[in-house]
Amino acid sequence: MTMLRRRVGGAELEVIVADITTLGVDAIVNAANTSLLGGGGVDGAIHRAAGPDLVAECRMLHGCKTGDAKITRGYRLKAAHVIHTVGPIWNGGTLGEDDLLVSCYRRSMELCGKHRLTSVAFPAISTGVYRFPAERAADIAVRTTIEMLPQAPSVARVVFCCFSEPGASLHSEALVRHSGPC
Ligand code: ADP
Repeated sequence: MTMLRRRVGGAELEVIVADITTLGVDAIVNAANTSLLGGGGVDGAIHRAAGPDLVAECRMLHGCKTGDAKITRGYRLKAAHVIHTVGPIWNGGTLGEDDLLVSCYRRSMELCGKHRLTSVAFPAISTGVYRFPAERAADIAVRTTIEMLPQAPSVARVVFCCFSEPGASLHSEALVRHSGPC
């Protein structure tokens, strides 16, 4: 379900409520953990939908640092690629959590630019078991993605794929705040 769509520069930014594993975009972003070998939440759902070849490719990447991102193929997913990024675990906000979450969106958008991807879908990284406050995370997600658009000129469509309506409302408010007048 689409909650909001806004044009920013040359790109269309959308907030939707959906299961990210069902989306036919160039890349879906995975909120992974440092092992890259699968976990719960959106990570588990992506690995289940992609099939066992995904974890086999991930094994060759030897993990990923918090705030960094790595790209693989999408295997059985409709999405051609998966960008695996590792969000910070929320610890009260004094351990650089904001900067690390910014880095997740930056590094993911850099990979989109490098691989000339045209569409990308993000889940609400770190807002599940990693407990990052949802409103603060939505603001960082939308603001950072918009800031990165000039460095990923191939990207014509960005989807903020939320798993709940309250989550989508927070992203919609952030998109209105950061996209300027219509
Ligand atoms: P993290 O460990 O980074 O917190 P989680 O997977 O626990 O990652 O949660 C991140 C966000 O992804 C949460 O907002 C959660 O509701 C959402 N989520 C879980 N499954 C899906 C899915 N299939 N599609 C989209 N979002 C999902």
